[in-house]
Amino acid sequence: MERLKSYIRDIPDFPVKGIVFKDITPLLRDPEAIRLACDALAAPFRDRGVTAVCGMEARGFIFGSVLAYLLGVGFVPLRKPGKLPHETESISYQLEYGIATLEIHRDALGPKDRVLMVDDVLATGGTMAASCRLVEKLGAHVVACAFVVELAFLNGRSRLHHEVVSLIQY
Ligand code: AMP
Repeated sequence: MERLKSYIRDIPDFPVKGIVFKDITPLLRDPEAIRLACDALAAPFRDRGVTAVCGMEARGFIFGSVLAYLLGVGFVPLRKPGKLPHETESISYQLEYGIATLEIHRDALGPKDRVLMVDDVLATGGTMAASCRLVEKLGAHVVACAFVVELAFLNGRSRLHHEVVSLIQY
């Protein structure tokens, strides 16, 4: 997994001053790196009875869709407000500056579902914690949260009350 680190690019002061953005696009661009990352993220969940993979807009869609394909289950998008066309459930949560909202289709998941949650980067954990609550609002069970990159110094893991898996830690 250390080899994958060379495909993550640091972009200082993006999107705002003081943030070092972890750019995963070099990893996506490389055929071996994207395959290695997706295979490694899927591996621990092959025999865990996962019935759906859930990914957050937008970079969670990239890895989430591949993981759904690899695990032989469907994909459920969590989207920014106003994007999903059918009846939705939503959740709002605090960001460092301001409030963010995510939505899910009400009929996308139910009590029989065991869901793997996927995003590219675990930072403070606020986005994933809210996403898990949203999925649980529909009665579904969260199996685990999976990330390509974990910014361990932010301790986002402590905000998640589920199993957490990450490939690369900083
Ligand atoms: P969080 O603080 O864990 O709620 O992160 C919020 C969202 O922003 C997640 O979907 C991450 O993918 C993204 N994000 C947060 N910090 C970074 C960072 N330093 N580099 C890249 N993406 C980030």
